[in-house]
Amino acid sequence: MSNAFTSLNPNPRVLMGPGPSNVHPRVLQAMARPTVGHLDPWFQDFMEDLKALIRMALRTDNALTFPVSGPGSAGMETCFVNLVEPGDKVVIAINGVFGGRMAENVANAGGVPVPVEFPWGQPVDPNVVEDTLKANPDAKVFAFVHAETSTGVRSDAETLSKLAHAHDCLVVMDAVTSVAGIPVEIDAWEIDAVYTGTQKCLSAPPGLSPVSFSERAAETVRNRMEPVRSWFLDLTKVMGYWDGTGGRSYHHTAPVNALYGLHEALVMLSEEGIENSWARHAAMHERLKAGLEGVGLGLLVDEPYRLPQMNAVTVPDGVDEAAVRKTALETYDLEIGAGLGQLGGKIWRVGLMGQTAHPQAVTICTQAFADAMGKD
Ligand SMILES: *Cc1c(COP(=O)(O)O)cnc(C)c1O
Repeated sequence: MSNAFTSLNPNPRVLMGPGPSNVHPRVLQAMARPTVGHLDPWFQDFMEDLKALIRMALRTDNALTFPVSGPGSAGMETCFVNLVEPGDKVVIAINGVFGGRMAENVANAGGVPVPVEFPWGQPVDPNVVEDTLKANPDAKVFAFVHAETSTGVRSDAETLSKLAHAHDCLVVMDAVTSVAGIPVEIDAWEIDAVYTGTQKCLSAPPGLSPVSFSERAAETVRNRMEPVRSWFLDLTKVMGYWDGTGGRSYHHTAPVNALYGLHEALVMLSEEGIENSWARHAAMHERLKAGLEGVGLGLLVDEPYRLPQMNAVTVPDGVDEAAVRKTALETYDLEIGAGLGQLGGKIWRVGLMGQTAHPQAVTICTQAFADAMGKD
């Protein structure tokens, strides 16, 4: 009787889609270190180090900062399920897929989403947001996506945050794709609640979502009238484990080795320097843009709003976008992303995130496009 099951051996790929991005061997090695108990004294010190590193990446001093045990979507849900009570009005800017998901989260939490829609490929327009905030003086929260991964657009976070505060709203920001790829300044911009992800510009494997709440947001959660409509993501419970100032108690078993990986990725970011990481993403974007122009390809988004780490590349007329991705994967071991929703078939999404924001990846990508489109 031979055993039919074998160990895994995935092909290494160059990951230039919308995430995950390539993971450095240092991060994978960190994840292979010995698993310890999630209440081990050594691990409790490690948790405080990890929180300090997350604060570094988010540029915040917020006490309530920790990695949610779940992917970016769990961070999103953590923000809304804790801040929104039944009947609360939340103004949500929607200029792509992820803003739409925010609205679903608000409705599930019992809140009343007030969507403000913008064309896909355009940033959130602060003037339109202001009109909506004026028309909804009882709104409690304003939410927006800093870096829309579905379209490759950056919105002006600082302006939007200050505007929402002027209308007495708490500000929730999706920074899943922005952190480490473009400047994110949680304290300077006065963002009240932010969530991010590990698998985009932080280049750790997927599965964790660092979040951070301002004191004002933390106070809002503490003063809730009704219980949080999630047991797992309820901050009043989770913080009994992550806070640490009053001792730690078991809530759920922390994903110990995944947290080692995030830690190593953040140590690497601290070694590089976060400003240098932003600059590297910008430089690789310029390099990619030049390479794509050389094979006759252009970008969807107007220059001032382009994300360097997420390039929406316009599919030329007559080109089979799926066939190009297939050639890239099969011939170059290169993953690029398809368009989502209304941009399906119209764009490719070429990520330059974290470790993948590297000259080698840019060269392979340009080569693959040239080859797949017959311009080699
Ligand atoms: C990827 C992404 C998410 C969701 O993260 P998951 O880890 O896939 O759950 C949320 N928002 C944005 C902007 C993203 O790019």
